[in-house]
Order: sequence, then C-alpha cells, then structure tokens
Amino acid sequence: MQATEQTQSLQKTDEKYLWHAMRGANPSPSNLIITKAEGAWVTDIDGNRYLDGMSGLWCVNVGYGRKELARAAFEQLEEMPYFPLTQSHIPAIKLAEKLNEWLGDDYVIFFSNSGSEANETAFKIARQYHQQKGDHNRYKFISRYRAYHGNSMGALAATGQAQRKYKYEPLGQGFLHVAPPDTYRNPDDVHTLASAEEIDRVMTWELSQTVAGVIMEPIITGGGILMPPDGYMAKVKEICEKHGALLICDEVICGFGRTGKPFGFMNYGVKPDIITMAKGITSAYLPLSATAVRREIYEAYTGSEDYDRFRHVNTFGGNPAACALALKNLEIMENENLIERSRELGERLLRELADIKEHPNVGDVRGKGLLLGIELVEDKQTKEPAAIEKMNKVIGACKEKGLIIGKNGDTVAGYNNILQLSPPLSITEDDFTFIVKTLKESICQL
Ligand code: PLP
Repeated sequence: MQATEQTQSLQKTDEKYLWHAMRGANPSPSNLIITKAEGAWVTDIDGNRYLDGMSGLWCVNVGYGRKELARAAFEQLEEMPYFPLTQSHIPAIKLAEKLNEWLGDDYVIFFSNSGSEANETAFKIARQYHQQKGDHNRYKFISRYRAYHGNSMGALAATGQAQRKYKYEPLGQGFLHVAPPDTYRNPDDVHTLASAEEIDRVMTWELSQTVAGVIMEPIITGGGILMPPDGYMAKVKEICEKHGALLICDEVICGFGRTGKPFGFMNYGVKPDIITMAKGITSAYLPLSATAVRREIYEAYTGSEDYDRFRHVNTFGGNPAACALALKNLEIMENENLIERSRELGERLLRELADIKEHPNVGDVRGKGLLLGIELVEDKQTKEPAAIEKMNKVIGACKEKGLIIGKNGDTVAGYNNILQLSPPLSITEDDFTFIVKTLKESICQL
C-alpha cells in the first residue's frame, strides 16, 4: 500500500526526534511504523501486514493482542500500582513462586527490568557470593565469543561481539572470552567437546581461584543460533564445579518455551547456579526481568556486617503490574501448551526446510523449538560466509511477501551470515505454512 501524507509527516517527525536502536543519524526510510498487532501479525500505518517472524526482538512469545494480559496489568494498576521490593507485594510473591515451579527446583528470585539488568545483577550476586564465603579473589567471568549479554557496561563486557563494544571501552573489568561451539564449522567438537575443554584450560591458566563464574546462553541466539554439541553444557557445569565457579545461564531469549522446554538449559540436563530471564517472561507487553539463584547462594548472604546484605536496588524492578501480567502470560503458555507446541513446530520446521540445504548458498539449517538459524555461504566447500548483499536479498524478499525475519548482520565479526527466525509460539497452522513457503521461495530467489 502507498504511504499517505500522514505517514510521510510521521516519518519526518520520527527522523527528526527519535533515535532508533542500532542507528546513527542517517535517515532510515525503511522503518516500519506499526499501529496494530494480532496473533503473529503486525500491521503498519499504511495497512500493510507482516507476519512477525522475530516476535519483535525474540520476545512476544504468546503473540500480540492478548486482551487478558492488558486486563491483568490494568486491574493491578487500579488496585495497587507500585510498591518497592525493598518491602513486598502479592504479584511479586506469586510470580517468584510460579517461576520456581517452572524452574523445577529451589531458586530465590531478584526482579529487575531488562535482560541486561538481570545479567548485571547476576554478576554482582556471584562476586559477592564468593566474598561472603571468604573467597576474596574470585571476580572474573568467562563467556563465549559471538554471544550477546546486554548493553550495560558489565553485560556488554561479557558480550563476545567486538563491533558492539569497541567504541565504548573500557567496559567492566574481569571478563574473558572463549570460542563458542560451532558444530557446522568445527564438526569434530561434537566428539571432542574441545570448546568446553577450552574453558577448563582458561580457568587453569587464569588461576581458577580468580574465576567467579561462566555465563552462557544454552544456545547462542543473536550471535548465530549456535547449537551446543551433546554433552557440552554438562561438561561446562562439571568444569565449573571442579574449579569452584558458578554457572550462570542467560535465558533471556532461550527461556519461556522458545527452545521447546520451559528453559533452554532443560534441553541439556544441567542445573545452573544462576538463571537470568527477561523478554518472554511478559511476552514483552511490559518490562520485567529476573535473576534466579540457587538457595545456597542466597543463604550465603547472612552475617552480622551491614555489608553482608546484597547492596543492590532498582526502583522499577518487579513492578506489580508487570508481575501480574507475567503471571497471566505464564498461565496462557500453560493453558495453550505453547512450550510443547514450540518443540513440535520446531521439529517440523527443520523437517520441512531440509530440502533447502540443497541450495548452493545454504550451508546449514539448525535450531530447537521455534528458534531457527539458516547459515548462508558463498561456497559450500569452503564455507565462506555469504556476502551481506545475499542476506539482505533474502530478508528483502521475505518482507516483500509479508514475512519479517532477522539476521545477525553487523554484530559478529566475520560471521554476519545467519538468517534468524523466532516467531511467536502461538503461530497457527496457516502461519506455519506461510513461513515455510515464504522462506523457501525467498532463498530460491538467490
Ligand atoms: N541476553 C541476551 C541473550 C539477549 O539476547 C539480550 C537482548 O537481546 C539481553 C541479554 C539483554 O536484554 P535487554 O535488551 O532486555 O537488556
């Protein structure tokens, strides 16, 4: 549909006053102005409809237009809109209990507002935990290259994507990186678990008594949908235990059914010490995040000194309306079996897309649940990453047909060649068919 005068005027105002995420001062005429959303579909100001194959930023897990979520927030705002969690309120109590049910174990929950904050909180909790136990030298964190952990000075330091970092340095101190598992480019890793062993070596070289923890997503998402080989996470957990470091699982994207389990780590039979979550916790209808810690970590925070408390507060964390909405969001996922649906549709997606692997530019198709990566290459033999023009061509073709997909373009040095798909877990059969058809047709246009 053609842009109207109203659209053009809004676009001008947008260009003048809005600083968009990941953008500089150059005008960005391709910005969609979305005015309506229902299910997996969003509609722009000119009436064009798109299936949002990225759930916004991997976050609208139950889909758009859920009136009961709006109602839950509205009713809580009317009843009691705010009280800080230096004291307490019922929605936070209930949500902390519910999250424990989802986690299947005994965790204590600290609420914040964003994934970055949840990770910052985890780093502070981990460092102080070691201090509380009299282990005063543990401050380093190990994470993987290509992973993204957030935009703040600690979470960005943990991030293994140099392009996002180098203009903002120096960042938080004490963050080290190792190579991630990449079973497409290093198939031997499946047998040797060399990428996990590297964590063991780095801990030893760094002196393990200086290492506070390892932070990892179960599957690296934004950095290219990197699937760990079987046994990788269990090996990392074993290494952490051997060296006395904590395993922090960043479930900001992988959590809340995205990978076909309540949390991503549950695919790999490990129990992390700390789990961070955001996005899907409210399906992004309101900001909320959480840092869940094993009870033993929480219980180290006793002692007679004033400094033995966790000296950390945020004003908005665990806002009652956000907590009430999150509870309703989890109820929807349970009632509609969305986690199981994510697992099942994910398996079908891989089956239905198996034949695009024959295309000369498709190096790999991988994923778990409704989390999918398609790695484009110039040459299947050399696995040379596809040029950004090829990526843009597929993304443009999808958009023209009405499907929004993502790419890890311009974030990961050398490997900006992975198309990403992460639709709402509530997609219908028709949506599913449309996604498969559109992806195939768009890749075949290369
Ligand atoms: N961790 C992961 C894995 C993420 O993908 C993100 C954001 O995309 C974050 C942390 C940071 O979350 P937020 O943008 O809510 O601060």
